[in-house]
Amino acid sequence: MARFNQAADLINLDQRFRDIIGVPERVINVNLPVKLDDGTTRVFEGFRVIHSTVMGPSKGGIRFAPFVDLDEVKALAGWMTFKCALVGLPYGGAKGGITLNPKVRSTDELERITRAYTRALKDVFGEDSDIPAPDMGTSFREMAWIFHEYSRIYGYTPGVVTGKPLHLGGSKGRVPATGWGVMVTTMKAIEKLGWDPKQTTCAVQGFGNVGSWAAKLLEDQGIKVVAISDHTGGYFRKGGIDVRDAVKFLKKNGSLDGYGGAERITNEELLTMDVDILVPAAIENVITEANAEEVQARLIVEGANGPVSSTADAILDEKGVLIVPDILANAGGVTVSYFEWVQNRRGHYYSEEEIRDKAAPIMIEAFDRVYETHEAYQCSMRIAAYISAIKRLATGIDLEGNF
Ligand code: NAD
Repeated sequence: MARFNQAADLINLDQRFRDIIGVPERVINVNLPVKLDDGTTRVFEGFRVIHSTVMGPSKGGIRFAPFVDLDEVKALAGWMTFKCALVGLPYGGAKGGITLNPKVRSTDELERITRAYTRALKDVFGEDSDIPAPDMGTSFREMAWIFHEYSRIYGYTPGVVTGKPLHLGGSKGRVPATGWGVMVTTMKAIEKLGWDPKQTTCAVQGFGNVGSWAAKLLEDQGIKVVAISDHTGGYFRKGGIDVRDAVKFLKKNGSLDGYGGAERITNEELLTMDVDILVPAAIENVITEANAEEVQARLIVEGANGPVSSTADAILDEKGVLIVPDILANAGGVTVSYFEWVQNRRGHYYSEEEIRDKAAPIMIEAFDRVYETHEAYQCSMRIAAYISAIKRLATGIDLEGNF
C-alpha cells in the first residue's frame, strides 16, 4: 500500500478510486474438516480473497504454508490485481491459501484437503469468475485435483484453473515462462541503458523454476552469469558459470550443494557483489535498508515477488540503480497462464513457439509503457508500474459507472 499511495499521490488519484482499489471486493474464510491418514479429523483453515474483478475474472495462486494468514492473502491478492492490470490481461486479482505445512502431510491428505477446499469454493471458482493457479507449496498436481473436483460438480471445465499438467490441458511454455519474462525485461532494460550484453555480468539468487530458467536464458543472450545460488549458498565463477551444467547437477542432486563448477560464496555476498545485473529470484525481502547501500549492481530485475523492501527502494533509487519491479519482471508466468486459459476455452492448443510469439509483445509493450511513465513522471520503474496499473484500473472503474 505504501507504493500504491506513492503512485496514487503522483497522479493525484481521486479518493473514490483509492477507496475502491484500497480494499478487497470479497474475503472468504473456509474451515475444512478433513480425515487424516491416522483416522482422526482435523479442521484446516483456508482463505480466498478476491481483490478486484474490474478488469475481468479474478486470477491468482493458492498457497499452502504454515504461516498463511488472511492479511498475507489480502496483500498478495492486491498484488495480482496490479500485475494483471499492468500487463493488460483481461483479469482482476485474487489469492488463496490454506494454513498447513505441506511437508508433513501425505499425498493422500493433501489431495483430500485440496478437494475439500475446491468444494467449499465451488461457487467462487469458475472460468468466468475466479481462476486459481499454483503458488508456494502447490504445483500442477494440486491444480489437477482442483480441475477434476470442480469438473465432477459442473462438468469438464479445464479453464477453471491454470498451471495444470500438460496432459490435462496445461500450456506448453508455462514452465520456463516466468524466467523467460525475466530475460525479456532484462534485455529491454539493457537496451535502454545502452549496454552490450556480451560485456555484461549477472548474478542470480535462487535456482528454482524462475532463477534457473532466467540464468539459462540470459546466458543464451551472451550475458556472463558469474554467480548463482540456492538455499544451500552461493556459487561464483569469474569466467562465467556453465548454467546448463549447474542445472544438470541440480537435477541429479536436488540442490546446488557440492557443485564443483564454481567457488563457494554466501547468499549475502552474492547480493552485493560487483556485477552489472542482479536477479533476485528466490524469496522476499532479501535487499533491505541493511544491505542496499552495499549493492553494486546497476540493474536489478526482480524475478521473485517483493525481494526489495520499500525502505531499500529509496536507497537504491538514490544510488541510481534501475529496478525492473516484480509486477513487470515476473509477469511472464501469468501471461502464459492467460494463454493456457484461452486454449482451454477454445479447445485449440498452441506450440511453444506460438505461445512465445503471443506473450513477447505483451511483455515488451508493458516494459515500454512503464519505461515511458518512469521518464514522464521522473519516478522509479516501480512507481511507474503502479501508476500504469492504477490508471488502467481507475479508467475501468470510471467506465463501469458502478458507484
Ligand atoms: P522455487 O521453489 O522453484 O525456487 C526457489 C529457489 O530459491 C530455490 O532454488 C531455493 O533453494 C532458493 N531459496 C530458498 N530460500 C533461499 C534463501 N534464503 N536464499 C537463497 N535462495 C533461496 O520457486 P520459484 O517458482 O522459482 O519462485 C521464486 C520466486 O519467484 C518466488 O518469490 C515466487 O513467488 C516468484 N514467482 C514465481 C513464479 C513462477 O511462475 N514460478 C511467478 C511469479 C513469481
